Amino acid sequence: MKENKELIFLKPVLKERIWGGSRLRTEWGYESDRQGTFGECWAVSSNEQADCEIAGGAYQGRHLSELWKECPELFGGKTDGAFPLLVKIIDAGEDLSVQVHPDDAYAQTHGCKSGKWECWYILDCPEEAELIVGSHARSREELEQWIKDGAWDKLLNRVPIRKGDFLRVDPGTLHAITAGVELLEVQQNSDITYRIYDYERRQNGKLRELHLEDGLEVTRVPYRITAADVIHTDVRENTMQLLAETAQYRMWTIAVKGVAVPEIRTERFLVGSVLEGSGTIDGVQVRKGMHFIIPHGYAPEKLEGQMRLNLTEPAG
Ligand code: ZN
Repeated sequence: MKENKELIFLKPVLKERIWGGSRLRTEWGYESDRQGTFGECWAVSSNEQADCEIAGGAYQGRHLSELWKECPELFGGKTDGAFPLLVKIIDAGEDLSVQVHPDDAYAQTHGCKSGKWECWYILDCPEEAELIVGSHARSREELEQWIKDGAWDKLLNRVPIRKGDFLRVDPGTLHAITAGVELLEVQQNSDITYRIYDYERRQNGKLRELHLEDGLEVTRVPYRITAADVIHTDVRENTMQLLAETAQYRMWTIAVKGVAVPEIRTERFLVGSVLEGSGTIDGVQVRKGMHFIIPHGYAPEKLEGQMRLNLTEPAG
């Protein structure tokens, strides 16, 4: 099917966040008709909070949720339910709240269609930056007690990071992005978040709601990752590096320099982001900040230029 064989580019949507920074506009060139502090760019989303429009090509002007419903052949069939992925660029001007997400089973018994796994690819961070992933609690009692006491330093596990690192944040993992970090976040298309701690910050004079009961219930104990669990991007050029292979998704990264002829195959479809530089994919111009879908049945053959791409394939 010839009409399938093109990249489907999406128009990102910026989201205002109290903890946001300025880089989504100044460094990524994303635009918004609103003024404000933008913390998130929803780059590939069919979520009702930001249903991305297709930018150019055969499907120009249609929304991702429509394409998902009306053109299942682009996604390898199986398009019941919602589009499975949500891709964001996050610019943390300040610390984000400490939170946890449930898995599908828990979410479904609490009125939601799916839980949420997520993962992070670090685009930029201050020197000696750390992210919060996991906890030091050895038992559920300890978890509850430390949360009750506000013993956050004791509870929260911090992992040193540097640019190009990849971290998995599976359901049940306490996590938080810290000030100054910029990252690509790929997650399950779901809103379900239990906020555990928000640094007592006020938004319009009010503390944001916490969800301690659910949060405590879904948090995995004991669970903590160490620096050894963090995947560092390798330095080889023009080679696909597998960052994660889980029951729900697979993610690769590739640094293109000159010409790359990688094996890009998918059972379903892939979601791609250009994270640095510029170049071409089978002759089509791409640059930093562009996000696209590689539809089912299309295997890009030639990447050219100087750029970094990340590609994610949903499982199932
Ligand atoms: Zn999260």
